[in-house]
Amino acid sequence: MPFLALGLTPNIVRAAARQGFETPSPIQTLAIPLILGGSDLLACAQTGSGKTLAYGLPLLQRLAKQPSHSPRQPAVLVLVPTRELAIQVGESLRNIANHMDVSVRISVVFGGVSLNPQLLAIRGGSNLIVATPGRLLDLVSHNAVNLSTCKHYVLDEADRLLDLGFQEELQAIGRLLPQDKQNVFISATFPERVLELAQTMLREPERISIPSEPQSEPDITQHAILVDTGRRTQLLRHLISTQHWKRVLVFVATKHAAEIVADKLRKARIYAEPFHGELSQGKRMQVLSDFKASRLKVVIATDMASRGLDIRQLPVVVNYDLPRSSNDYTHRIGRTGRAGEAGIAYTFVTPQTRSHFRMIEKKNSLSIAVETIEGFEPEIDASVVEDTSAGTSTGGVKGKRPSKKDKLRAATKLQ
Ligand code: AMP
Repeated sequence: MPFLALGLTPNIVRAAARQGFETPSPIQTLAIPLILGGSDLLACAQTGSGKTLAYGLPLLQRLAKQPSHSPRQPAVLVLVPTRELAIQVGESLRNIANHMDVSVRISVVFGGVSLNPQLLAIRGGSNLIVATPGRLLDLVSHNAVNLSTCKHYVLDEADRLLDLGFQEELQAIGRLLPQDKQNVFISATFPERVLELAQTMLREPERISIPSEPQSEPDITQHAILVDTGRRTQLLRHLISTQHWKRVLVFVATKHAAEIVADKLRKARIYAEPFHGELSQGKRMQVLSDFKASRLKVVIATDMASRGLDIRQLPVVVNYDLPRSSNDYTHRIGRTGRAGEAGIAYTFVTPQTRSHFRMIEKKNSLSIAVETIEGFEPEIDASVVEDTSAGTSTGGVKGKRPSKKDKLRAATKLQ
């Protein structure tokens, strides 16, 4: 079905076509008519499904048809959990808005950078605001923006917003918005507290669900490699050179690990940069743009990069440290194999983290054979030392502690 059949105007359809989007994705096919019709919407969708334009196209169209009485007054508010997603969503919407025949002013605001430029920009007037919650409230407290004119409110990645502890900010923002508005709620997962938030926010919502779990997509090949904890950097270097990887995103458990691993790779003349929440916004932007432009081969990231990042042509993701949860595993590997391209996910499993990996497999209904690579075989039989260092070198992995009996059994086997 073409975009035009969903009720979008030829002008918006042309703007989408200029970005190379000719056919709506499944979530766009379902969401666009509902949002154009004014319904509240509860959507289960992952990053990568085309969710941004699923709400972006109809809301831009509605904005164009009913320009707000004053350019200073926002009519659409989109809340997102991270700066990266704010920038990405802002970019997608601007790419469309720039080709519309009505001028729509879009402001993108997020923390971690100086307040003043955003204060001035938003005071200059804005029809659509893309924001992270904390910075938006800062701007409200500086009287830079009045949310009482918003007619459309979008929560993008609602589960992530709650994971990051934005509950109070969301409540505060909710109180500043008018009762009478259209609400769109998008989340990749629906644990209880996400459902509770949806219940307080939405009125008789239409519900749509796009089952697009990355782990079940055929174009991500998943490998698990058993290796000793202390040899993972060497193995990573080995894989980068023997597999001729052009661009790889490596996940570690901590900011410290990101710095250390990147440093070790650089010493081995592999151009790598860390990516985590303690870097300045400027530095993070630089790393991402260098990575996207292939000026940088390896990025060593914390889970901060596991959601929302959309890097085209990212063929390989490596889990150097296991993620804490099965959900994080899904999000991490979902950075590759996007937009119909094939991707490979490698997970380094150490003797200590093997049972945690089994838990991840089980919860995600996966069955991945654990391989070894010649020259990198672990020194100790994995079955006898599982989980002895949960929370330390495993990268904060949760796992059962060995019982006295287990320890005894292990000691006997080692003798
Ligand atoms: P999102 O789920 O919004 O993060 O979008 C994921 C990617 O899909 C982005 O790179 C978009 O540019 C792209 N995209 C969005 N809509 C379409 C479409 N209809 N056809 C092809 N690609 C699309």
